[in-house]
Amino acid sequence: MGSSPAFLLQRQQNWHFKQTDDLVKYYLDQADINAVRRWQTLDGYTFEFHEGHETGNPIYIRPDGNTSQQSMPKVDTKNIVNPALHYKNSKKPNDPWLENIANYEVLSASLTTQQLAEIAAIFVDNWSALQKVADRRWNNYKPAGQGVQAAGIGWVAKLKCQSALCRNRTILLAISSLGAAQYIPLQSVGKCKSCRQSNWAFVEARALAPGETPDIPLSAEPNPNRSI
Ligand SMILES: [Zn+2]
Repeated sequence: MGSSPAFLLQRQQNWHFKQTDDLVKYYLDQADINAVRRWQTLDGYTFEFHEGHETGNPIYIRPDGNTSQQSMPKVDTKNIVNPALHYKNSKKPNDPWLENIANYEVLSASLTTQQLAEIAAIFVDNWSALQKVADRRWNNYKPAGQGVQAAGIGWVAKLKCQSALCRNRTILLAISSLGAAQYIPLQSVGKCKSCRQSNWAFVEARALAPGETPDIPLSAEPNPNRSI
């Protein structure tokens, strides 16, 4: 991973809820990223963190081109189970919940119906992931994978065999970094020793736990014919 991402030095951090976004990659674990149900696909707006009003772990939303330093639309994330219920207007229950967030008019004045719908759907579909991003941002979280890997600590990818016979039998494949998990050539891992097929699916990437030994060490060559 190397040096710290640039956004850590910025007082106002604008980000897209996209898999490629540095801030998203920093605050979410690989398993969280794999579990995301809806990524941002439209441009024209960013999510934002800025100092000064952190009560409630807010995520601000800023239309592109807007440079205001006050009264930005925000969604609080702390101790809220479901934003669609929390922000619902009980007198107008059929109105979209997003319309009831603070300073919503800043969004409605410059974003399209499609953009507004996407923002609402991103929050609802990925609420726990966005709560984690905000919680970690506001608590100055540092990912374990940052900087030089400490001696004796390794990373593994957990793979599962998808054959019906094996019922998700798992193996651990040593990897050089969490980021390397997305480049695992699953077809060259080898044949499952239980069902003798190569039918692997990625489950998660994480640090090697104490006492664990990877089934395939970091030094092993790709070998589609091995039995593992
Ligand atoms: Zn199998």
